[in-house]
Amino acid sequence: MANCTHLDAISVVELPESVDGCEDCLREGGAWLHLRICLACGHVGCCDDSPARHATAHYHETSHPLIRSLEPGESWSWCYVDELAMLIPQIQGNTRIPPSPLLAE
Ligand SMILES: [Zn+2]
Ligand SMILES: [Zn+2]
Ligand SMILES: [Zn+2]
Repeated sequence: MANCTHLDAISVVELPESVDGCEDCLREGGAWLHLRICLACGHVGCCDDSPARHATAHYHETSHPLIRSLEPGESWSWCYVDELAMLIPQIQGNTRIPPSPLLAE
């Protein structure tokens, strides 16, 4: 089984207390389904089931390799380069997130 070699890219080890939503959807007036945070820079984007897939778009723009789910009860991270899901125990905190605008409709 492969191991992720990108853990040294992590600079976000304390998750924000709360976020307002996908920052790109908020700017563009779009709607997200689930939220992911970039562990290199703290960018908050939306998942691949969201219309605009901003978390993946952020990876393609920046090559920041790792995201973590911000969904309640989810603590998995994902490496885009290795296409590997993992738990990274040194990342602390729980983020309060607003409900998905798609599910609120
Ligand atoms: Zn990796
Ligand atoms: Zn988005
Ligand atoms: Zn980033």
